[in-house]
Amino acid sequence: MPSRRQFLRLGLLASTGLLFEGPTLFGATAKTKSNIYVVRKGDTLSAIAEKHGISVAALKKQNRLKGDRILVDQKLKLPIKAGSNSALASVVTATAKIKVDAKRWRHIVLHHSGIEDGNAKAYDAGHRRRGMENGLAYHFVIGNGKDSGEGEIEIGPRWTNQLRGGHVRDSKVNDTGIGICLVGNFQNRRPSRKQLEAAFDLVDYLQDGLVHPQHKVTVHRWVDINHTVCPGKHFPYSTLKKRYHIA
Ligand SMILES: [Zn+2]
Repeated sequence: MPSRRQFLRLGLLASTGLLFEGPTLFGATAKTKSNIYVVRKGDTLSAIAEKHGISVAALKKQNRLKGDRILVDQKLKLPIKAGSNSALASVVTATAKIKVDAKRWRHIVLHHSGIEDGNAKAYDAGHRRRGMENGLAYHFVIGNGKDSGEGEIEIGPRWTNQLRGGHVRDSKVNDTGIGICLVGNFQNRRPSRKQLEAAFDLVDYLQDGLVHPQHKVTVHRWVDINHTVCPGKHFPYSTLKKRYHIA
């Protein structure tokens, strides 16, 4: 049996074709919904479900289908589950178990950790040492392949317990902002493709009903102006702006 990390990596590799076929990630001019399948001649619900590692019931539910009839060129939404993106699957599973007060979350703030070492557990310990009683200041941590999987999304207790973040100086934004930290120092390098894919998948997922309709996608330095370079000079700001229509 592969280890959990190997399994995640295999899952990510398997998902790449489905999620990022074509020029969707870099240089995309609009946010591309990645989980749409267009029905081809000869397709059946069970074949489509099997191909994407989901159940027929889940596929029918997602598309509000009563029977088994599908039409050529019909667009089907694929539920986000293991098989379409296993990095996100753990988030989907954990989030299904909690009650999210979507109206509360008005910001999604991206960060880098500023160092190449560490994972959610290590940063949690660090933040506790610095006096944060709720530990890990971010809601999510996305690994760089060193102390957690590359593109692996770790879920912090502030997400599962729906607690305010501690990731910016602006207290109002901490109250209403979901913090996502990508492990690495992006003053020295770009985030890896897998890290960015995971980050954008996570933001897309959160935007789909888990945040206030008028929320903002932003980065640390745009919140705490003149106080930080986070998430670093090599973070692809123009890609972020295009993808999330940020002026
Ligand atoms: Zn930051």
